[in-house]
Amino acid sequence: MSMKNKDLLRSKAFVDGKWTDAHSGKTYDIKNPADDSVITSVPDMDEEDVKEAIEIADREFPKWSSMLAKDRSEILDKWYRLLMDNQEDLAVLMTMEMGKPLKESMGEVAYGASFIQWFSEEAKRVYGDVVPNHAQGKRIVVIKQPVGVTGIITPWNFPLAMITRKVGPALAAGCTVVIKPAQDTPLSALAAAYLAQKAGLPPGVLNIVTSNSASEIGKELTTNKLVKKISFTGSTKVGKMLMEQSASTVKKISLELGGNAPFVVFEDADIEAAAEGAIACKFRNAGQTCVCANRILVHDKVYDQFVEKFSEKVKKLKVGNGLDSGVDIGPLINDSAVEKVSELVEDALQKGAKLVVGSNKPEGRFFDPMVLTDVNDEMEMFSKEIFGPVAPVYRFSSDEEAIELSNKTKFGLASYFYSRDIGRIWKVAESLQYGMVGINEGLISTEVAPFGGVKESGMGREGSKYGIDEYLNIKYMLMGG
Ligand code: NAP
Ligand code: MG
Repeated sequence: MSMKNKDLLRSKAFVDGKWTDAHSGKTYDIKNPADDSVITSVPDMDEEDVKEAIEIADREFPKWSSMLAKDRSEILDKWYRLLMDNQEDLAVLMTMEMGKPLKESMGEVAYGASFIQWFSEEAKRVYGDVVPNHAQGKRIVVIKQPVGVTGIITPWNFPLAMITRKVGPALAAGCTVVIKPAQDTPLSALAAAYLAQKAGLPPGVLNIVTSNSASEIGKELTTNKLVKKISFTGSTKVGKMLMEQSASTVKKISLELGGNAPFVVFEDADIEAAAEGAIACKFRNAGQTCVCANRILVHDKVYDQFVEKFSEKVKKLKVGNGLDSGVDIGPLINDSAVEKVSELVEDALQKGAKLVVGSNKPEGRFFDPMVLTDVNDEMEMFSKEIFGPVAPVYRFSSDEEAIELSNKTKFGLASYFYSRDIGRIWKVAESLQYGMVGINEGLISTEVAPFGGVKESGMGREGSKYGIDEYLNIKYMLMGG
């Protein structure tokens, strides 16, 4: 499988509508994690480069934010169409730089593009309010205005969607953006920028700074006075740091951080559906998503039945290069990810867990998907994100215990449970301390719903009518009589 439109493979950064080198002239290689082949190299930009990009975004902000909403909407809609017209090529590029199976990359392009379409509509609906009769003869008018230059930092696990989930609402609101994609996966972002330009996005509205030195770029984005908003998706550790750094200039901030999703199977659940749901929820992207089931919790009464059905399905998953057809699970992103997963499994095995499917001996960056039983909350994987194809199945024996175990974590992003009892469904759904709850559903992400977390999983929401608020300030005007 190869790309038809070679122009989508970009080897420069994108600043002020131009394909740009780093001031220093430095570059670094982008490799395919499946076989370490070099795809291309991109500029290794530094503080000076990002500063310039910020100034350009600031220069363009007045023009972009005052453009008619319907004109901004039209550009976004055109961009959406171009993304979909190039779905296959974008998917091939994504699989090359990130490793996920091609069918998942196809899905991500559609999912990522859907945010551009959604917010092309939302751009036209940034309404305000009128508060009548505040006092005799007085009125209050509430309007929403774009925040300003927005700094965006994204992870490697969804090289396109993590960008569009932020850029869609930001541009729709009237903000201009400076993006630092993950160092391992800048190519999908650059290809998307290429198509944005084709769609008629004016120069300087969307800028992409590629770099191997995240902390330097992050420091500038969070401390530069011209940047009014930071939107970050990534680890909780880096999110906390960016929040601290942003304090010096009191920026508006949204953070989509780590998760530790419980996937609870109650005794009245449709076990077949639960096992199927757990496969999608756990093994998508080789387990490298923030909403992946991290802890599968199954009621005592149906534990053996679930493990048997689930294990049968896990054994059928095909591991291999994401570009080969029929592959379900690709490589992990890099060697340190492989090591981290291995260590978590080793810790569980040493504390008494049983490996009933798969192997903790990777071949290169490829793991045979694993199922672990006899696990408990003292094992490290109970509290840490596994981020790999490993499914630990815990036991519980009452609703109270299931809820308590589910909430026993500092994270609060996605949660899932399977039950057919309507009374239980309400009670459990309301008791879960999470931003999102999948009920008899293993996949919850859609542009129509507000994605986001509570606790140390972050703040702010992406997607839906709520998503655009992250990029708007509220102002009120009191009209005297
Ligand atoms: P990460 O290390 O935090 O990286 C995310 C982004 O932050 C990358 O662009 C990275 O750049 C950058 N970065 C790293 N150190 C930085 C610093 N000191 N200052 C500024 N930027 C910095 O996260 P990861 O481990 O690569 O990604 C996986 C994490 O993302 C997981 O925890 C996962 O749960 C989370 N995630 C959350 C969501 C969500 O919506 N809640 C979605 C997907 C992933 P480099 O690539 O150059 O290191
Ligand atoms: Mg990283």
